[in-house]
Amino acid sequence: MTDRRTELAENLARVEDRISTACAKAGRPRDEVTLIVVTKTYPASDVRLLAELGVRHVAENRDQDAAPKAAECADLPLTWHFVGQLQTNKVRSVAGYAGVVQSVDRAKLVTALSREAVRTGRELGCLIQVALDAGSGERGDRGGVAPDGVAALAEAVTAAQGLRLDGVMTVAPLAGPYAGRQLAAFERLMEISSDLRTAHPAANMVSAGMSADLEDAVAAGATHVRVGTAVLGVRPRLG
Ligand SMILES: *Cc1c(COP(=O)(O)O)cnc(C)c1O
Repeated sequence: MTDRRTELAENLARVEDRISTACAKAGRPRDEVTLIVVTKTYPASDVRLLAELGVRHVAENRDQDAAPKAAECADLPLTWHFVGQLQTNKVRSVAGYAGVVQSVDRAKLVTALSREAVRTGRELGCLIQVALDAGSGERGDRGGVAPDGVAALAEAVTAAQGLRLDGVMTVAPLAGPYAGRQLAAFERLMEISSDLRTAHPAANMVSAGMSADLEDAVAAGATHVRVGTAVLGVRPRLG
């Protein structure tokens, strides 16, 4: 049996290969795309191995799982991204370890994140999570603001102390007009990103694509892909 380190190294190499190939196909330089490894449900020991193997960005979606792991890995040169639906009562904890919150989807969350960033004197990066399948004024089932709510939320982040507007994030919808059409979904996200950048040129992060669809995300123009199972294996439980 191969040990975990070897397994992770092999998986990372395969994902790296997929990203490079997708970049080459799209005529994009490889360094335009950053790999974020989604370590949810996997132990701190795996995060440590990933850091040794050169990973610099990790993501988590549940504070209960992430907070102790981040504490155990506080000595590692990692940026932690929070990518799950975030309740305001978890903001204090999340702001303690996250460098970027990718799931900003409502004004109340902006207020809470700002308060915490100011209290701790840390700047927090924020991505607006877009629910491409949400109707006007609604939120997505898995979080996210409807496309027509992005501009107002971006203004709120920009106006809030302690927060930095970094860009947009999406998860390809499972239902609605984009179901099964990842490339079209990510191209729509790119349009939303272009609109956002006319008012906020520095907000150029586009986080899209997971294990199953990272090629589509790179083809559309994503700057960050969030990969879990292709690096760590099929998760032992839902997460
Ligand atoms: C779990 C998760 C991922 C990674 O998904 P995989 O299919 O395991 O690569 C990406 N983004 C978010 C928001 C997630 O919750």
